[in-house]
Amino acid sequence: MMYKQCAKKFWYFYNDEEAYKGYKQTQGSDALIKGSLFHQYADSFFDNIGVSTDAYSNDVFRAALPHTKFADLNKWLDWFADKEWERFEELSAARYEHLFIPFAREEFVSMPDAIDRTGHFDRVDEIPGTKNLRIIEYKTGKSYNMDKTWAATSMNSEIGFYVIMLNTIKKYPDYKITEWAVINPTLETIWVNKISPISLKSVNATYRSLTQAVFDKGPFERNITMLCRYCPYIDDCLLGDNIDIDYELFN
Ligand code: SF4
Repeated sequence: MMYKQCAKKFWYFYNDEEAYKGYKQTQGSDALIKGSLFHQYADSFFDNIGVSTDAYSNDVFRAALPHTKFADLNKWLDWFADKEWERFEELSAARYEHLFIPFAREEFVSMPDAIDRTGHFDRVDEIPGTKNLRIIEYKTGKSYNMDKTWAATSMNSEIGFYVIMLNTIKKYPDYKITEWAVINPTLETIWVNKISPISLKSVNATYRSLTQAVFDKGPFERNITMLCRYCPYIDDCLLGDNIDIDYELFN
């Protein structure tokens, strides 16, 4: 949720044509291409593997993902296959293998509001033995390290935004969304977190202040944090300010 991370970044993204073009150019970078391919392959993995759980093996899992020209992407995919194999074995041991194929994938959601809310998330898994769901995001960037408080807080907001929409439009009426997870093959880590009602309240408050700011035409304040180092608008935003970001503060 870009506005919550930094209102000024949101402003650049939606208002500054040149900056927007610069942002779009980064979409072609090597890292983003590999990230996008990882998303695509992780999603099609579940189509390739089918539902014949009797025939599953670790080799079948790895073979359900392609071998590409990118060595690091191949490493991510092998790691992903191995983690999914572990998950399958755990589910099978508890006789929940029918929950292996995700409950939903590549979900787009939208909800009419003062400014319509829209969102997309990668996957939803059913939590065994419950009627609860876990929203899952694939993130390949090193900045998506949920051990860092700022990254986890940002993810809480992002997922909270989706959860509010899903609950409001009653997308999954028989289930409760209780957890989120981030799968990061670069850091070879999977984080699972409970969804906190406080986060949902805070996200809604942010949405209200965003719509107000849009209608009032600002102010869109800068939020200078460690995340600025990944911001495509950093040159325009911090130019001439001589701001020295102490990244250590955020480690
Ligand atoms: S550089 Fe930092 S403060 Fe400026 S727009 Fe980007 S995220 Fe916001």
